[in-house]
Amino acid sequence: MNKVEHIGIAVKSLKDSEIIFQDILGTESYKMESVTSENVNTLFFQLGETKIELLEATSEDSPIAKFIEKKGEGLHHIAFHVDDIQEKIEELKEKGYRMIHDVPKAGADDKIIAFMHPKSSNGVLVELCADKPKD
Ligand code: ZN
Repeated sequence: MNKVEHIGIAVKSLKDSEIIFQDILGTESYKMESVTSENVNTLFFQLGETKIELLEATSEDSPIAKFIEKKGEGLHHIAFHVDDIQEKIEELKEKGYRMIHDVPKAGADDKIIAFMHPKSSNGVLVELCADKPKD
């Protein structure tokens, strides 16, 4: 791990929340991206080395829709940047931690990602995040 890559926040509406976070952060979002495999739309703000990722569900079975139904809008996950994501996954599994993804998958903003199971990390949903290899 070498930095907090981004903080994910679950919102009901990107459109409504964009204005709020523009006001708070004093900067405009730089990217809107749909992640169809997760049924979410994302909106990114850059804040120094870290980003804020707003997440909106695009369907009722989206993990974000389920999260908001259970807990309401709010902090959803913390993403840590790692250089070698597969190595980190193996290291954590060897130490007995549960992963949601054993193999990294495509995430938003040109990243490959893997989520840890929140039961393994004090209820915090941790995302490992690395740059997508250039081919
Ligand atoms: Zn994320």
